[in-house]
Amino acid sequence: MTQDSSSGRLSVRTDLSLIDLYDSEVTACAIDLSDNTNLWGVAPSAAAMLRDLPAATISRYPSAYASELKDAIARYLDVEPAMIVTGCGSDDVLDSAIRAYGRPGEALVLSDPSFSMIPVFARLSGLVPIHVPFGADGEIDPALFNTADATIAYTCSPNNPTGASFASSHIEALASEFAGLVIVDCAYAEFASRPMARLTDRFDNVLMTHTMSKAFGLAGLRIGYGVGHPDLVVQIEKTRGPYKVNSIAALAAVAALDNDRTWVDERVLEMRENRSRFVGCLADIGLDPLPSDANFILVPVEKPVLTGERLRGAGIAVRVFRDLPGIGGALRITIGPWWMMEACVDALQKSLS
Ligand code: PMP
Repeated sequence: MTQDSSSGRLSVRTDLSLIDLYDSEVTACAIDLSDNTNLWGVAPSAAAMLRDLPAATISRYPSAYASELKDAIARYLDVEPAMIVTGCGSDDVLDSAIRAYGRPGEALVLSDPSFSMIPVFARLSGLVPIHVPFGADGEIDPALFNTADATIAYTCSPNNPTGASFASSHIEALASEFAGLVIVDCAYAEFASRPMARLTDRFDNVLMTHTMSKAFGLAGLRIGYGVGHPDLVVQIEKTRGPYKVNSIAALAAVAALDNDRTWVDERVLEMRENRSRFVGCLADIGLDPLPSDANFILVPVEKPVLTGERLRGAGIAVRVFRDLPGIGGALRITIGPWWMMEACVDALQKSLS
């Protein structure tokens, strides 16, 4: 059946032609360094909770807005539960926030390159994504964000896909100078060398989003959350809707937040050691990755597609970028246990020769 938008009742939105399905390389690879998940595995208390799951938890609906999970996040971050909105992954929180604060025809401004789903979420809500470059110093430039005449500004620190962390002072300047909603995506915050300032204490227009898909190793459970002023949070909960976090995921996430901080911190330390060792190995084979404050690095290469295919042939998946603004072709490589990184260096060396 074809969908004809010009006749009949089955008439799909014409702007959906601007959106492609998410391209996640589905063929299995022995070593998958493509998606920045935790390659050391699952936070242990979450795994234990899943093993001993009380079956009764799934015959009823979960809590509509995940109140127990909110309480655990509030304990983890030391904020009030009323400042937390949860979601089916932070994707869901980002999408709902854009739906709540953007009207069709308005604009959302973000730096380029940054998280690829944001322009998609903007378009799905009828907003126009506007990209602005980074400043000459590599920082976000609040003045450029303001020239875009947008109602929502998005920034991500450490940034996907570059790995760069931005100075708190620049993000604070954006929060105070931008008139609309400012989303600060902290998906990789646990890996950063410096903690991000808690902007939500001082700015009512800021939503900081987080995920349990990365440092906590719970990507398959789809748990994300946002932190902001209670008035902001309640509006985002309306557009998000009830029952988006399932009971099993919520139980595992609460267990991990309450008990697995040390496990996360230890994995982060090991990741950082492996990252600097891996960067050294890449330099030895003539590659010059961008400085990273996250659990991945971005490596500019001349032939990204060919190199990515060759790596895949050697059983290693990485994320291929054909042409990033200001960077060109590049591979984004997740940092994991050393045996994986060693195999990656070896395959890269062979793929480039
Ligand atoms: N923000 C950024 C910057 C990301 O890289 C990702 C995942 N790739 C997300 C948000 C979404 O993560 P999740 O939906 O798994 O919480």
